[in-house]
Amino acid sequence: MERVKCLIIGSGPAGYTAAIYAARANLSPVLYTGLQMGGQLTTTTEVENFPGYPEGVTGPVMMEDMQKQAARFGTDIRFGVVTRVDFSGRPHRVTLDDGKTIEADAVIVATGATARYLGLPSEEQFRGAGVSACATCDGFFYRGKDVAVVGGGDTACEEAIYLAGLCREVYLIVRKNYLRASKVMQQRVFDAPNIKVLFEHNTVELFGTAMGLEGARLVFRQGEADESFKEICVDGFFLAIGHVPNTGVFKEFLQLDEAGYIVTSGTSTRTNVPGVFAAGDVMDPVYRQGITSAAAGCKAAIDAERYLAGLCLSST
Ligand code: NDP
Repeated sequence: MERVKCLIIGSGPAGYTAAIYAARANLSPVLYTGLQMGGQLTTTTEVENFPGYPEGVTGPVMMEDMQKQAARFGTDIRFGVVTRVDFSGRPHRVTLDDGKTIEADAVIVATGATARYLGLPSEEQFRGAGVSACATCDGFFYRGKDVAVVGGGDTACEEAIYLAGLCREVYLIVRKNYLRASKVMQQRVFDAPNIKVLFEHNTVELFGTAMGLEGARLVFRQGEADESFKEICVDGFFLAIGHVPNTGVFKEFLQLDEAGYIVTSGTSTRTNVPGVFAAGDVMDPVYRQGITSAAAGCKAAIDAERYLAGLCLSST
């Protein structure tokens, strides 16, 4: 069985930064990318708030840069998805989707988070045929058409702005009477002539034919005295209502909070299992930024290095 010193799971800013630091510390890291190589930032357009890019950079380019930087110092980057872990003893065991199991002295979990859906049956019906959680991936298919985006955060505003550049009309469906997004994003939404913000609206169901989505039925002020219903005709329906942490395979061994995020100790990246560390969106329900994930990845590599140094000392 293959045995490695440091195994990193995930290829977002946390995973790649952990890899850069671990490689430079001679830990010979092996990194498994997961299904979405580069993580969530590969689905974003312009990143304007990551220091070091004064003109901004696209998410995919930034992630490619991080990958190259991790590879340059010798990280063994492999495509694969972790299906099972066994953190009950030492070394830790991690099984991949091809059936291979690897032993690792230290594991850094940086599996990020996945887009949340509303949970409507009709949403399932039109997934991939009008329903998407990634405007930058799928917006192209709706050029010149009308679309809707659900959510009131930065992601929803960013997606609405992106789609406004491609589509005829963009409805932004917001359940509260205000946007949660940063002021600068809000202003861009309000300044776009073809974005129509529908405050206090919720989606009841989606409708269409076997050919694809045709529209959405919405409710205004659900449950209140002036509740009313309306339909909008849209070809595309984009979800931007937050994320759930990708922690399913770890839940038997790692302590999670009530929302499923990995619990780490104090300001460190240590989990409840010695030798297992967590970094990025998988353990951070609060900040969830590329830069904070990268910082956590750096901390995880340093924590792993110190842990491995301790192992060496105790075995001599
Ligand atoms: P957020 O959690 O910030 O926002 C989620 C939005 O979805 C909220 O408006 C929320 O409504 C709404 N929502 C949640 N569930 C439902 C539902 N069932 N029905 C309808 N609406 C729902 O997530 P984001 O993905 O927008 O952002 C995550 C983090 O990433 C944030 O910290 C954000 O600032 C950051 N980010 C930064 C960017 C940048 O700086 N360029 C770009 C994108 C994200 P409510 O407000 O009512 O809870």
